[in-house]
Amino acid sequence: MTHGEKRARLFNVREQFEVSTSEFEEEWWPLVSNTWTRWGSNRLANGDEWTVFACRFLKHNESSTRKEDISSEKRRKTHPRDPNQCFAKMKVTRIAATLMVRIERYATTPDHSHTLEDSDRLKRSQAIKKLVEEEAVKPYASPSIAAAVKELATKIGIETSAKNLTRKDVTNIKQKVRAPENAILIGGPDLESDIRAAMNFLLDRSYLVERFTVLQKASFSQALGS
Ligand SMILES: [Zn+2]
Repeated sequence: MTHGEKRARLFNVREQFEVSTSEFEEEWWPLVSNTWTRWGSNRLANGDEWTVFACRFLKHNESSTRKEDISSEKRRKTHPRDPNQCFAKMKVTRIAATLMVRIERYATTPDHSHTLEDSDRLKRSQAIKKLVEEEAVKPYASPSIAAAVKELATKIGIETSAKNLTRKDVTNIKQKVRAPENAILIGGPDLESDIRAAMNFLLDRSYLVERFTVLQKASFSQALGS
């Protein structure tokens, strides 16, 4: 199944289906994380846990329902594709006994009142953010990274998710990714703690690090035979 097909299945959920928890978390959810927002959840006595997700456009609607006056009704009628009207919800159940995740439409909620592309305009998905993170460690400027991500996204069939990726999105993610790397360059109180910190930094990221020790100046001179 392509990424595009997975996205479609998690957008307007037609038939209930199950995938493994790890597959859901790694391969399904990141593709549509920009579409849904957590609406409610509960853990059952048997260990199962369900979460209902609502369309992100609903949130905007709820926060602006101060008065359901005539003017807003009018506005809605003049904009038939106003995504604020979206009441789509889906229910995701983690089944403790089988380690599977069941995805289904929540109760009798309707389809989205808008397209997947509209959701993509609203927010970037985790899948896109991950692509940006992977590119952001390379020493390129934000516009080049954005262009590279769009190309990668097209290759894996989620180009609509990347279409609205801005230079600012990239810059924000880049700062997040590079901040811990830059912190290591600031340096500790002495050379030895600096090297230890650098080694830990690399080990944390699964690099192989050879043993490194700092010789005292005197012994260092001796080691050189001077
Ligand atoms: Zn929607």
